[in-house]
Amino acid sequence: MSDLSAPEFPEWPQFGDEERTGLIRALEQGQWWRVGGNEVDTFEAEFAAYHGSSHALAVTNGTHALEVALEVLGVGPGTEVIVPAFTFISSSLAAQRLGAVAVPVDVDLDTYCVDPDAVAAAITDRTRVVMPVHMAGQFADMDALDKITSDAGVALLQDAAHAHGAQWQGKRVGELGSVAAFSFQNGKLMTAGEGGAVLFPDEESYEKAFLVHSCGRPRTDRDYLHRTTGSNYRMNEFSAAVLRAQLSRLDGQIAVREQRWPLLASLLAEIPGVVPQGRDPRGDRNPHYMAMFRIPGITSERRRVVVDELIARGIPAFVAFRAIYRCDGFWLAGAPDETVEQIAERCPNVEQIHADCVWLHHRTLLGTEEQMHQIAAVLADVLAG
Ligand SMILES: *Cc1c(COP(=O)(O)O)cnc(C)c1O
Repeated sequence: MSDLSAPEFPEWPQFGDEERTGLIRALEQGQWWRVGGNEVDTFEAEFAAYHGSSHALAVTNGTHALEVALEVLGVGPGTEVIVPAFTFISSSLAAQRLGAVAVPVDVDLDTYCVDPDAVAAAITDRTRVVMPVHMAGQFADMDALDKITSDAGVALLQDAAHAHGAQWQGKRVGELGSVAAFSFQNGKLMTAGEGGAVLFPDEESYEKAFLVHSCGRPRTDRDYLHRTTGSNYRMNEFSAAVLRAQLSRLDGQIAVREQRWPLLASLLAEIPGVVPQGRDPRGDRNPHYMAMFRIPGITSERRRVVVDELIARGIPAFVAFRAIYRCDGFWLAGAPDETVEQIAERCPNVEQIHADCVWLHHRTLLGTEEQMHQIAAVLADVLAG
């Protein structure tokens, strides 16, 4: 093995005077929660408009964004939520916290997004919501999912934790007619360290969600009216001030990543044994939350070594998500009445992807073209070693 290593990539998160002045602005407002403050309200309006939606609700984090959305969509004990088996665990955890059963289904081997046929096969009379995850910014097949869910009379909830600014056939996330939940956790495409938001296609569901996210209290309540169930999922003013600045950086960053990924993907595809994540061309704007690729047939020990070696050579690499049905937490609350083996058998693609997939932090895609060549050269060298 040579001592080839990649030069430093841009840091993440990125920030500057916009975030700095935003924080001071929130501080000097003298109101640090959303009631009486201006930042959360303004961020909601800006985030909604950016995604072509009429209503955004800012919340504490992406997991809570899913929880609030699911609660508004009627998920609770006795209901089922269909989720991809290859995702971050919050997709199922949010449903399970509400007492629902999370039903994991298989994904597409090329895009790693939920397989519409598997979704259709999993729908029962208890299904309330189908939750596609736009994996790494690649849209799930929204046309097929729209049809399946409207035929079955169940709701569609987009887990858009990777999809800030994404577009499907020219439509922004908020223009697709369904509810969408976002995360602003430290690694996400825009961040305040923690945070989340939900886009709603109509005022009624937004107003319901507002109550749920604020202990059931109406916006101007002075009489301790608690009109519904819920909890405190409110975002604070500092986070919203930072997120307004982060939103203003997003388009520029997406433009760079949209330039870099096709180059990196083509270089990765030339390395024997490496298969980059594919792209459904209908997802015509991809913000690229991760640079993902598979190494089919690799053992888990070897994958760990490869990831460690990439990190040692300056490339922020990670082992991809574990299949959710292979996590203890999944079984401790609200799992379907099946064994791990039964679920694994109906999720053959997840079985492969969760075992052979590696991802790189999106800050690599903010690097130079030269750095894309360096990533590919380092990976080829590591795999040959
Ligand atoms: C990050 C993430 C979440 C949860 O967001 P948090 O803000 O970390 O709670 C949900 N779903 C997916 C797919 C994610 O990647």
